[in-house]
Amino acid sequence: MQEKDVVTQKKQYDLNKLQKRLRRNVGQAIADFNMIEEGDRIMVCLSGGKDSYTMLDILLNLKQSAPINFSLVAVNLDQKQPGFPEHILPAYLEALGVEYKIVEENTYGIVKEKIPEGKTTCSLCSRLRRGILYRTATELGCTKIALGHHRDDMIQTLFLNMFYGGKLKGMPPKLMSDDGKHVVIRPLAYCREKDIERFSEARGFPIIPCNLCGSQPNLQRAVIKEMLRDWDKKYPGRIETMFSAMQNVVPSHLADHALFDFRGIRHGSAVVDGGDLAFDREELPLQPAGWQPDEADEPVMAERLNVLEIK
Ligand code: SF4
Repeated sequence: MQEKDVVTQKKQYDLNKLQKRLRRNVGQAIADFNMIEEGDRIMVCLSGGKDSYTMLDILLNLKQSAPINFSLVAVNLDQKQPGFPEHILPAYLEALGVEYKIVEENTYGIVKEKIPEGKTTCSLCSRLRRGILYRTATELGCTKIALGHHRDDMIQTLFLNMFYGGKLKGMPPKLMSDDGKHVVIRPLAYCREKDIERFSEARGFPIIPCNLCGSQPNLQRAVIKEMLRDWDKKYPGRIETMFSAMQNVVPSHLADHALFDFRGIRHGSAVVDGGDLAFDREELPLQPAGWQPDEADEPVMAERLNVLEIK
């Protein structure tokens, strides 16, 4: 076999592995949060970025073998940003043979008109976009709206809210929309951004750049992203542990008296969530909770284990 064929085979093998992992993660999130039910018509929001392409790809793939019937309709909002390549998504979706709708609304013009130069435009822009997407979901008779946020977005939001908003609040895998009419789901909730990046690259999705509006990147989010990236490099598994923590909340051991009835604890009350025992020194596992082995992590993990052994 020629070297070129070996490389192609290896690439195909890696792509299959990634696809399997993403499928497993999406399937698990759908099951855990009951995201998709029999007869659902799901509006898949497609921005033209790696996350939404991956979401559509994996949902289409899962649909073929799912034990229930549901349908998908891809929706893109053309916000009339300068230089938006209008032909890319229709061509891609036609080739896939998937039902789709391109909604054209000049939110770019509205935002530019209303927001003074130099001020952040994202909050008005997102509000406008959300309203249009909700309206479109109703027009298309969709029962669910799928967004392409992934696990790393959810963790970043948690830290953003903690660091800058003073709230222990993240981004949920499923919620009721603010108009109370739509169920919003995030099927990539369990997927790692680095898997999505690699998958998107391997699949060669026709990515549309996300900086066409000319808005400055959110500096606070960039700081958090950098911090998490750094932790992930130095301490493989830490991100997984934090995500597990988001799924293991113990309100009686936090300090929100609206969430847990601290006032009701009196002499003779029952022990809740282990009481003081929860603070005894416990054996923490060497491998963080929720850690998934990844070839890229192995050398760092091995080094880390060596350091621990020497000490
Ligand atoms: S980055 Fe641009 S398109 Fe995205 S929300 Fe902000 S203003 Fe809107």
